[in-house]
Amino acid sequence: MTEKRFILVPAIAVLAALIHFQAAHAGDALRVGRGDLRVLVGEQATPVEEQAVRLFTREVSRQTGLQLSIGGGAAAKYSLVIGTPTSSKAVEGYCQKHPEVSKLEPDGFHLATAPDAEGRIYVIGQSPSGVVAGLGRLLRLARYSDGSMEIPVLTMSDSPRLPVRGIYFATHFNNFYHVAPLEEVDRIIEDFALWGGNSLTVWFDMHHFKGFDDPAAQAQLARLKHMGETARGLGMQFGLAFLANEAYNTSPENLRAKWIPGWSHYHVELCPSKPEGLALIGKWQAEQLSAFPAVDFIWTWPYDQGGCACDECMPWGGNGFLRASEPLARLYHERFPEGKIWLSTWLFDTPAGSKGDFDGLYRYLREKQPAWLTGIIAGTQADKLPKPLLERPSPDRYPLTCFPEISMHQMNPWGGFGANPLPDYCARLAADLRGRVVGGWPYSEGIYEDINKFYWAQFYWNPERATEDVLKEYAAYYLSPEVAEDAVRLFHLLEKTHTRNGWRVRNLAQADEAWEVAQAIDARLAPWAKSSWRWRILYVRAAIDYVLKNQGYLSDDAHAALRPLCDELVRIYHAEKTGIRPPAFKKAPSGSQANLALGRPITASSTRSEYAESARNLVDSILAEDDPENFWVHDPSKEKTAWLIVDLGRTVNIKEVRLQFRGIYGAFWFVPTTVSFEVSDDGKEFSSVATSQDVPKEGTTYSPRLWTYPIGKPGRYLRVNLGPSQHVAAPYAGTLELTEIEVSEQ
Ligand SMILES: [Zn+2]
Repeated sequence: MTEKRFILVPAIAVLAALIHFQAAHAGDALRVGRGDLRVLVGEQATPVEEQAVRLFTREVSRQTGLQLSIGGGAAAKYSLVIGTPTSSKAVEGYCQKHPEVSKLEPDGFHLATAPDAEGRIYVIGQSPSGVVAGLGRLLRLARYSDGSMEIPVLTMSDSPRLPVRGIYFATHFNNFYHVAPLEEVDRIIEDFALWGGNSLTVWFDMHHFKGFDDPAAQAQLARLKHMGETARGLGMQFGLAFLANEAYNTSPENLRAKWIPGWSHYHVELCPSKPEGLALIGKWQAEQLSAFPAVDFIWTWPYDQGGCACDECMPWGGNGFLRASEPLARLYHERFPEGKIWLSTWLFDTPAGSKGDFDGLYRYLREKQPAWLTGIIAGTQADKLPKPLLERPSPDRYPLTCFPEISMHQMNPWGGFGANPLPDYCARLAADLRGRVVGGWPYSEGIYEDINKFYWAQFYWNPERATEDVLKEYAAYYLSPEVAEDAVRLFHLLEKTHTRNGWRVRNLAQADEAWEVAQAIDARLAPWAKSSWRWRILYVRAAIDYVLKNQGYLSDDAHAALRPLCDELVRIYHAEKTGIRPPAFKKAPSGSQANLALGRPITASSTRSEYAESARNLVDSILAEDDPENFWVHDPSKEKTAWLIVDLGRTVNIKEVRLQFRGIYGAFWFVPTTVSFEVSDDGKEFSSVATSQDVPKEGTTYSPRLWTYPIGKPGRYLRVNLGPSQHVAAPYAGTLELTEIEVSEQ
């Protein structure tokens, strides 16, 4: 790929200058049947161009069954000439007659599909990467049926407006990128390149491993290396993300970083203010870099996880993080002198004790004007760019890229219910970023956010494109042009029912409508589209929401309807071992273990306002093993102790109560010092039946087992009293949490 200039150009002027779109004969199309079209690559074709042609012919075959021939051997009515002026003599000849093609910007392309006297049509790239993007555009402009393809007759040039058109694959915790067969991961990278994407970042999450020589670490490095080769083989840039002080899980305890409760932290990270800590971080980073033949850029990342909260490192983002990033930059440039280095401001000024992150960074930029730094990555907050980034020093010298959250927004477990199209959310964020960024890398946890990925690839190519056009292009290509309008409606309807925590969806008002639209589309799709994963994750999402609206999620009937849908998602994602899967259904215990609290009304003495309604999580039989976010939290600003009352619906001879306490990062947190129980027949007069100090100790190793308390008394209402919290450290001092209350009968 060619060297990029980081310049923000007024987009409207660029639009006028770059797009010449004219159909030679309006409405004309080349009809291509068996044997009608061959593809000609240049004499000097690069491996990227050769690979682009393989993708093109594969996609045509998927849509039509046609096998296009490659090369001059076979005779054909039309020849598709692909290449750059330096790779193909035929392209060079075309460009001499059409000087406007030489005005393409980096990675731009020119399509000319009115056949010349010899039946030649052209896809010309300014670079090999431009050839990939041009073939991708031609694929999405063409129309398909079984055994034939229609190529619209047109002449057009287009160039990307933004130089960084990336994606970040979070490759961890047994998600799709971590465990899916590599051929499937390759497809996702290839599609992204055909959409005009030009940059892939991955992260080698050290804390999973004992060290560089750990066979599991080597296997993961090989996997990431493979992804890099696939990306670079398509003309994309490949980069590695580094947490500035990350460490293997065998890191020496005396060198470890300090952390503050509330920070995301693996507790194995090292303190870069300790000289031996900094040296060890550097040794590990150098080993990691040596595992990759080519790394076009790196990220240095501050938080979530990581950081050090010691006095010398704080405020981490504006101090220790920068001192840890400088030697990383040196190491990287020793091995890859031309490489770019992006510094992330993700969560800056947000975690406890981090005020001063932006101030520290800006002082550093003003005083040192670091030559090693390419630019800044903005951590966006919901659909907004954090304000301090707008006032950063030297914005021209250090341009801004973004890191849109397309994976975990308002859905938990993310991806667990199928596709998560978020067109309105993405468009709001895009409106805030337009004119301020030179591109970015959305955060991707899997394939369920495919539509959002496509949206951002298109935004980076041309930030002025209308959302509806983008959605329609996706639907027309991956489903069919006939259903495109209905599909766009479905994407919007699924955004309306999107927000949820576990099985509890905020608003299912339009779930029936979405299901109706989904079924109507399904009936009209060609077999290849109907069975494609891109359609199935949309269809399953609409089906799940329909069941939730009409049957809820607690009854056996609801489970019977939901289970096959969830199983299908797990198969598509290869999510057998991950949290990115639907919340599981508990086998309803029977006999003396049956849970009489399941689905019963519950009231809490207080609930933290951000978690309103969360008391219901305590009687839904969804345990922390299946959904760690399925908990209730009391409001410590209102009271030190708390109570919960469950109405069992009838007087029950209560045998026992079982409680599940809260765990975070593998330790018990927010546990009360005591529990006690009262019963009542009318919900007003309660009598005490049991008190216990048998509770887990705060900070000890978490176990999801239920703690059992014998009761042996009858009552319709059960009151669970929680004593003061064992958690005394700021910022969550005094907080009480629980994840489940179960009640069984004698
Ligand atoms: Zn430190």
